[in-house]
Amino acid sequence: MADASYNPFRTAQAQLDHAMEVLGLEPSIRQLLREPMREYRYRLPVRMDSGEVQVFDSYRVQYNHARGPTKGGLRWHPDETIDTVRALACWMTWKCAVLDLPLGGGKGGVTCNPTSLSTAEKERLARAYIRAAGHRMSVDRDVPAPDVHTTPQIMAWMLDEYETMMGYHHSGVITGKPIPLGGSAGRNEATSMGGVVIAGEVERELGHQIAGARCAIQGFGNVGGILARLLHERGARVIAISAVDGAIHNEDGIDIPKALTYYNRNMQQIAGFDGGDAISNEELLTCSCEMLFPAALENVITESNAMDIQAKVIIEMANGPTTPAADKILYERGIFVVPDILANAGGVTVSYLEQVQNTYNYRWSVEDINRELQRRMKEAFAAVYAENKRVEGPMRLAAYLLAVERVAEACRLRGWV
Ligand code: NAD
Repeated sequence: MADASYNPFRTAQAQLDHAMEVLGLEPSIRQLLREPMREYRYRLPVRMDSGEVQVFDSYRVQYNHARGPTKGGLRWHPDETIDTVRALACWMTWKCAVLDLPLGGGKGGVTCNPTSLSTAEKERLARAYIRAAGHRMSVDRDVPAPDVHTTPQIMAWMLDEYETMMGYHHSGVITGKPIPLGGSAGRNEATSMGGVVIAGEVERELGHQIAGARCAIQGFGNVGGILARLLHERGARVIAISAVDGAIHNEDGIDIPKALTYYNRNMQQIAGFDGGDAISNEELLTCSCEMLFPAALENVITESNAMDIQAKVIIEMANGPTTPAADKILYERGIFVVPDILANAGGVTVSYLEQVQNTYNYRWSVEDINRELQRRMKEAFAAVYAENKRVEGPMRLAAYLLAVERVAEACRLRGWV
């Protein structure tokens, strides 16, 4: 991920090309699906606390809207480029289609280092982004949500700016909001909860038990941290965790509630936690374990470490953690990989349920949300697994075959190709 030569959009296109080839899609559809339908770039001048103005690069990509309004998070990260956003928007398109949500795929990003911004600077940046990009967003057009380094509070400022600009309430335009502003019960945990549902389906179909399984989790933020807690509660032995500053290993199992308290008190850092031995992020990926959950950023499982991975199952909670070359190696080695567009789809599923509640101006209980989330994740897993049995190859290919055909069908029905 810190490798400047790595281009995630090339990875996304390679995965898509493979699926389109197997599906035998017509050339016009291939041409359409290989590139975003709309993309925007904004330069955002923001006044810093010092009084000086800093200009930030930012993006919004609406990749494909054949199946509905585009949907996808906003990432604030120093390595954000138009190509990271294109890749993430492309993956969102297939993710929404795998879950059979009536949505297209989109994504946004701001190139910035959020850890160096004050709360007031973050608020001004969030509002500046919406002043620039908000005219092209609406519940029927394009709906953002949180992603890396963006939070429900940031969504709240963005919603307020949007509604102030438009002069009316329209809470469904942004999901992942705080609950008092129309956020959904269960949204915060949804991505991780979805990952646990998938782990449960892997247990049911392949017999890899969660209880007692040694799990390694890369990334301890919104997704990885909550996932660690949920797995710990289900009796898994979480033996390795990490954040950007380092990783911790404990063969007896890490005390996850204690680690979460440490992480939240130490400005989202895990180094120095005394509940295990310090290891590197690279060592975490290749440590001896049954289940590996990459939950940080893309491009972490590559040709250079795929041979060393010891996990039997990889559940991709991050977007794009595995390169196509690594995928091939993992498949040949018999490691069962649940791809990102299925494994981490719990977040967008509950975002969709949030939009539905906002449209009806109604609230469902957390029990209702989790029941619906489970049902949809299980159905999607079953469909992908059935496809995987029909077509020889990795689960990623099966998920792509289902998703790309669904999007292609919508494009054909609209008469676009
Ligand atoms: P976050 O900002 O809350 O947490 C990211 C975590 O990754 C942090 O612990 C951070 O320290 C760690 N990290 C960052 N760089 C790292 C590195 N180089 N090595 C190891 N760890 C590193 O973000 P998040 O919302 O938890 O998202 C994590 C991943 O999950 C991303 O790929 C995101 O796109 C994906 N995702 C998130 C959601 C969601 O609902 N938030 C939904 C689907 C997919």
